Amino acid sequence: MMQTFQAEPARSFPVHALKADLLVAGGGLAGVCAALAAARDGLQVILIQDRPVLGGSASSEVRLWANGATSHQANNNRWAREGGIMGEIMEENLYRNKEGNPVLFDVVLLDMVQAQPGLTLLLNTAIFELEKAGKDIRAVSAFNANNQSWYYVSAAQFIDASGDGVLGYLAGAAHRSGAEGIEEFGEKMTPAENADHKPCHSIYFYTRRTANPVRFTPPGFALKDIREIPASAASLLI
Ligand SMILES: Cc1cc2nc3c(=O)[nH]c(=O)nc-3n(C[C@H](O)[C@H](O)[C@H](O)COP(=O)(O)OP(=O)(O)OC[C@H]3O[C@@H](n4cnc5c(N)ncnc54)[C@H](O)[C@@H]3O)c2cc1C
Repeated sequence: MMQTFQAEPARSFPVHALKADLLVAGGGLAGVCAALAAARDGLQVILIQDRPVLGGSASSEVRLWANGATSHQANNNRWAREGGIMGEIMEENLYRNKEGNPVLFDVVLLDMVQAQPGLTLLLNTAIFELEKAGKDIRAVSAFNANNQSWYYVSAAQFIDASGDGVLGYLAGAAHRSGAEGIEEFGEKMTPAENADHKPCHSIYFYTRRTANPVRFTPPGFALKDIREIPASAASLLI
């Protein structure tokens, strides 16, 4: 039945207060695996993801496949496999989504998370603030712009799987950005000197054979000269 609301001087969006044993910030593959593992161990888990889908960089929104073990850059480790929950996800995806449709991969992740007892998922919800007691994080505040609701979520433990370190940043933790020089850890692929390197951009696209030529109108922001792309980004082959 239709509801009627009288005029008021002003209103605020509703606030939902939730409590969990563990809060996982970010629903990319790291957050999904962490949340599933903890809920399977009997914890009450809340997983907060700011996007409408799970999967982060591996979701249909970005389409960076979870294939690090098998084909990172020029390595072709065709017999290597991701194990653990990641392996389960890949197997389920292979069974349901043999053609590798990225949208169906989102659905595989969503199905696994929604079927897991003890795991509450908040999609479209961005964490923007946290509360500390001394050095400990106690709660986060988040906003869902789709259902226009605030969330105040307290928990005993927190995992930052946001890819951007949002909990660490908001908690005021010391941090650095860029790439360390090779002398620090001796990793083979690091630059000689520490540098302001960040992960580069990726362009993934599909091709389809058509019967006739197809017109393409480039967007106004398309580069006229491809050499304007920074060299480090252009040289990364996945
Ligand atoms: C250009 C590029 C190339 C890469 N190449 C490779 C490769 O060759 N091999 C490989 O193994 N890996 C590669 N990676 C890394 C790969 O994307 C990651 O290994 C993996 O997908 C990251 O998963 P994640 O869950 O840690 O982070 P993400 O996938 O980044 O997930 C984090 C999630 O947290 C959400 N989030 C962020 N802030 C908030 C907030 N405030 N509130 C709520 N949610 C939030 C984000 O929207 C995102 O969905 C590459 C990454 C990039 C960017």
